[in-house]
Amino acid sequence: MTGPIPLVDLAAQHAAVAEEVAAGWSQVLAKTAFVGGPQVAAFEAEYAEFSGAAHCIGVGNGTDALEFALRALEIGPGDECIVPANTFIATAEAVARTGATVVLVDCDPDTALIDPTAAAAAVTTRTRAVLPVDLYGQVAPIEKLRALLPANVAIVEDAAQSQGATRHGETAGSLGDIAATSFYPGKNLGAYGDAGAVTTSRADLAERVRLLGAHGSPRKYEHPVLGFNSRLDTLQAVVLSAKLRRLAGWNAARREAADRYTALLSEVDGVVTPVVAEGNVPVWHLYVVRVADRDTVLGKLHAEGIGAGIHYPTPVHLTGAFADLGLGAGAFPNAELLGREILSLPLFPEITPAQQERVVSVVADAVRS
Ligand SMILES: *Cc1c(COP(=O)(O)O)cnc(C)c1O
Repeated sequence: MTGPIPLVDLAAQHAAVAEEVAAGWSQVLAKTAFVGGPQVAAFEAEYAEFSGAAHCIGVGNGTDALEFALRALEIGPGDECIVPANTFIATAEAVARTGATVVLVDCDPDTALIDPTAAAAAVTTRTRAVLPVDLYGQVAPIEKLRALLPANVAIVEDAAQSQGATRHGETAGSLGDIAATSFYPGKNLGAYGDAGAVTTSRADLAERVRLLGAHGSPRKYEHPVLGFNSRLDTLQAVVLSAKLRRLAGWNAARREAADRYTALLSEVDGVVTPVVAEGNVPVWHLYVVRVADRDTVLGKLHAEGIGAGIHYPTPVHLTGAFADLGLGAGAFPNAELLGREILSLPLFPEITPAQQERVVSVVADAVRS
């Protein structure tokens, strides 16, 4: 087969929910109630149940969700938070925005998940939280972290890429003290714009997060704490409820496609396929392989109209934003190795076997030459 293959294809998902979204939106438009309302509360209840957490609080985006989770734990200047060096910048950004210090640690080179031993070794008397990231849709080894960390260090799970993933039967978003997720359009559960949520089973933290996103206001005209304006839009809640009903099926389709890639690529020398940690059922937000001459392979895929990507080429410590940490190349060898070799292949629930075969044949040609 020929023709372009995108990295993600949001059109097919929209087609599946289009009628339901149109009906839901026309109800919102008829009432002109665009902030709050029963649609937001309904989605929050559905997503809490889906995640296995007692509470879900919708917010404006995933980065705010992370920041509010940290602020609910009263983390701020003088505190330290441990973050894997190989993550999307937002995990570190959220820590920095609270005024706390970002302490980076390396990852496991096989799974790309935070290395619990490295995290435990980075703990000081100022450490208040560790932020394991469920990277690429696979839950981080949170129970191993818990076993190694002092009891006063909180676990803030970055579950932006893992909606519906499980580890030893527990669902992403419920494994730490509190978790943040993102409904950015390309995530497994994607809105039609920015959106995010915090999940937690701790009522005290849930209450604080809700205050923070709503101008620090529990009731009209009352502002006991300084807050922000970051709420889940009503129109987005309608989309998310419609999509959530289909998410388990979409995640299953991603698993099937991931298994197909792994089988096809097992025949190709020079490509390292993803490693799933014991106990994990991933949701394959991304299907990430490793190849030695990554930029050449990526160039050939792009030349063939195949939308491969890199998540992420630059570890946090080598970005300009975190240059003041003073950590140069060599600080986190595993994260840096991944930055050079990782390659995300097109993956979305509706990808066809023929599309995957074509991707693999272009990868195989590129790696061989
Ligand atoms: C997408 C993402 C975020 C941030 O989400 P936004 O909604 O874009 O702010 C945070 N962490 C990880 C790992 C992500 O992939």
